[in-house]
Amino acid sequence: MSFRDLTPFGPALAADLRSNLPSDCFRPAAPHYLEEPRGRYHGQAGVVLAPDRVEDVARIVQLCGRHKTGLVPYGGGTGLVGGQVMPEGPVPVILSLERMNKIRDVDPQDNVIVAEAGVILADLQAAAENVGRLFPLSLASEGSCRIGGNLSTNAGGVQVLRYGNARDLCLGLEAVLPDGTIWNGLSRLRKDNTGYDLRNLLVGAEGTLGIITAASLKLFPRPRHLETAFLAIRDPQAALELLTRCRDAFGEGVSVFELMHRQGMAFLSETMKQVRLPFGTGPEWMLLIELGLSGLGSNRAAFEAVLADAIEAGLVDDALVAQSDQQRQDFWTVRESIPLANRMIGAIYSHDISVPVSRIPEFIARAGQAVAALAPVRVNCFGHLGDGNLHYNVYPEPGRNKVEYQDLVQAITDTVYGLVHEMGGSVSAEHGIGRLKTGDLQKYGDPVRIRAMRALKQALDPVGIMNPGAVLVGD
Ligand SMILES: Cc1cc2nc3c(=O)[nH]c(=O)nc-3n(C[C@H](O)[C@H](O)[C@H](O)COP(=O)(O)OP(=O)(O)OC[C@H]3O[C@@H](n4cnc5c(N)ncnc54)[C@H](O)[C@@H]3O)c2cc1C
Repeated sequence: MSFRDLTPFGPALAADLRSNLPSDCFRPAAPHYLEEPRGRYHGQAGVVLAPDRVEDVARIVQLCGRHKTGLVPYGGGTGLVGGQVMPEGPVPVILSLERMNKIRDVDPQDNVIVAEAGVILADLQAAAENVGRLFPLSLASEGSCRIGGNLSTNAGGVQVLRYGNARDLCLGLEAVLPDGTIWNGLSRLRKDNTGYDLRNLLVGAEGTLGIITAASLKLFPRPRHLETAFLAIRDPQAALELLTRCRDAFGEGVSVFELMHRQGMAFLSETMKQVRLPFGTGPEWMLLIELGLSGLGSNRAAFEAVLADAIEAGLVDDALVAQSDQQRQDFWTVRESIPLANRMIGAIYSHDISVPVSRIPEFIARAGQAVAALAPVRVNCFGHLGDGNLHYNVYPEPGRNKVEYQDLVQAITDTVYGLVHEMGGSVSAEHGIGRLKTGDLQKYGDPVRIRAMRALKQALDPVGIMNPGAVLVGD
């Protein structure tokens, strides 16, 4: 069944919802429920519902199933691939998790936090900090994205290198399955080999296999010493060599290793003049490195020694080690402001790709040549080098608008994704498939895996009500 065969939201479902749900579940369809950060899609909503109990989520799913009407889960609305908005097809119900926002438990001994899906990521981090623990998932959108959305997109961010992505941080889930049943899988176990892993099916499913309503998540000791440095480096190959040196010296203590290009600094100086750029717009390649170390003493001297050796070896041209919390914050502000500056400039297309870490320099060199051969454009390439994940964003020449390049979009994405595919990489490293990349999944995804994904979708959601049109084309 195609998602286009679903029944649009209408008076019969509206009446059933009214008589089965508390009135405070109903929300006006405010514009933010229908928009997404990059303005590519404009969603539609028969009604916006914001329940505050899992039982009400289950009622909504049951009623949508009975009426064969689509249901789009909505967290913080910060997803970058259009998973949270349904621009076409039969009008759906929007289910916002914003009122399921309680921290149910924090246990510093088990190193576990149990949070409802609507808890904002920054609030979850703060709840962990209140008991002296770290919840390490960290993204520039952490002030508005919600943990249910983070898990549903298997979000990455800046500390994957050390702590893994959202999937790696998840011990258990509570979820409503497409038939409206509640699965209580809020396990705190670190070892549990009892068959198929439903948790890992729902994580990264982008709302197509059920609604996540709560999660039990791993906490970690807070590093006692943070060492943060902003570096001008020779080139991406030098960055890789420095990564190896840092890991040899500090092991898992290397928690952040972010690559930035001069183009990002130029965009910042054009759009956000208040952001202090440590090296101005001079060096071509820069790194933000952070070590989070737990020993009793500071490792500043050892860190500075590694950097001095790297300067000596010609890998690093200039190094600033943060001398205060304020300076550390200033370094982070540069990295975290890049996505906003990018948005203000307006990309022709943004690619969220990964390749094997060792092939990053080759990818950057080959992609640069191939894209330049298509048209004169600007590229801002930055990202989580330690994870092999780059944001490879292509922009118009100065004075021109992205709209003027629409005829080139396909050629640009074909070029970049073709190279990624050839190099054994992924066309969606951390943002997911949503609606934006359904075609790319079909084109570059493994056919056996896609067939298995379809079979799973069919088994769990035979009517196809869950986030229709997301992830799998035709469902
Ligand atoms: C400035 C900026 C920086 C970003 N940086 C990063 C980054 O570094 N790394 C990264 O991975 N992402 C990043 N993102 C993307 C985005 O923040 C993440 O994908 C985030 O995890 C989405 O969470 P959300 O609550 O906003 O989800 P939403 O956008 O509301 O939804 C995302 C998807 O999950 C589904 N969904 C939401 N909640 C649930 C639920 N409870 N149950 C089932 N399905 C659900 C939605 O239907 C949709 O398909 C960034 C975005 C912005 C705007």
